[in-house]
Order: sequence, then C-alpha cells, then structure tokens
Amino acid sequence: MISAEEALRRLREGNQRFAADSDQQRIDHITEMRRRELVRGQEPFAIIFGCSDSRVPAEIIFDQGLGDLFVIRVAGNVVAPSLVGSVEFAAEKFGTRLVVVLGHSDCGAVTATLEELAQPVKERSPNLRSIVDRIRPSVETLMETDLQHNPDELLKYAVRANIRASASQLRHASPILEELIEEDGLRIIGAEYSLESGLVDFFDN
Ligand SMILES: [Zn+2]
Repeated sequence: MISAEEALRRLREGNQRFAADSDQQRIDHITEMRRRELVRGQEPFAIIFGCSDSRVPAEIIFDQGLGDLFVIRVAGNVVAPSLVGSVEFAAEKFGTRLVVVLGHSDCGAVTATLEELAQPVKERSPNLRSIVDRIRPSVETLMETDLQHNPDELLKYAVRANIRASASQLRHASPILEELIEEDGLRIIGAEYSLESGLVDFFDN
C-alpha cells in the first residue's frame, strides 16, 4: 500500500485534472477489464469521508475509477459510530493510509444547522436532528462573533469549522484509529471542495 503522502499526491493531481477538464484518466479505470481484475479484491489507496451532496461525487472530482477510493458519504460529513467503523474497516483490512474528510462550499447540512441556531425548528425528524446536533457544537461559537451579521461569510467559516471538527473527532474516534495514526502512518486530514472552481483545498492537518 502506498503512503499517505503518495495518496495525497494522487488525489491532488486527479482533482487538478478534473477541475481543468483535461486528460482525465478515470475512463481507463472504469472498463470491463478493470471490473474483472477487481473481482479478486480491492486495494483502495484513499478513504474519502465526504458529504452526500450530489455535486461532490468523490470518484469524479478526484478523477479516479473502480477500486481506487473507499468512499463513505453522509450529509454534512458528520462522524457517527457506523461511519467510524467503516473507516476502521478500510484502514485495517486494506492498509489504506490516507483519510480525507471532505466538506464543500454551500453545504446544505451546515446551512440547516445555522438556520436551526438562528431559529429552532420544533418538528424536525429525530434522524435529521441527529445530523444537525453533530454539526452544531463546531459552528455555535461563530454565531457569537461579528460573522452573525454576514450570512455568506458565516456559512464559509461554518463549513470549514465543521470539516476541522469532523477530522479531529475521527482522529480520536477509537483506539484502533489512534494506534494506526501513532504507529502505522495513517493520516486523517480535512479538505474543502469548491463548487465554483471544482478545486479541493486540502488542510494542513
Ligand atoms: Zn454538504
């Protein structure tokens, strides 16, 4: 299995190809031959922990094909037990060494959380509420700053705060992940996809 640094390089390059709409390689990786090769097993080089938004499909924005990425998607890229289990599974079973927590501009789940903080909704489904409740702690404090008077800026900051919070939670989500980070070179980083430019901004940590 390739290192986290090498995996990150592949994702960066793939995203640049996608955003520039040039020389995309994905097509070579979604052939019948590739599908047949993968019947024997998979070795995904990165785990993408992203939002479900239809505009942010991991394989497409990173220009990757079958068997390349182990993708976990949930609205608002919130960290919950079965999702942590999915990361553990891939990191242990396949030896994948890079996890990217991928949020994006104009995230609906973050917007819903900001709306909820501004004006609580009584009749929200408990399932939807569980998503909002997981985003709330990371964006709540922003509501107390001057950003509260500027909705567009507030959303930008809130999206990034939510990505950082999810990445941080995931790093400490279980003893298995902590050990893989400390002893086996597993890296968990945040990143933000821009709907406008098509580019992914990877965070330093
Ligand atoms: Zn979203």
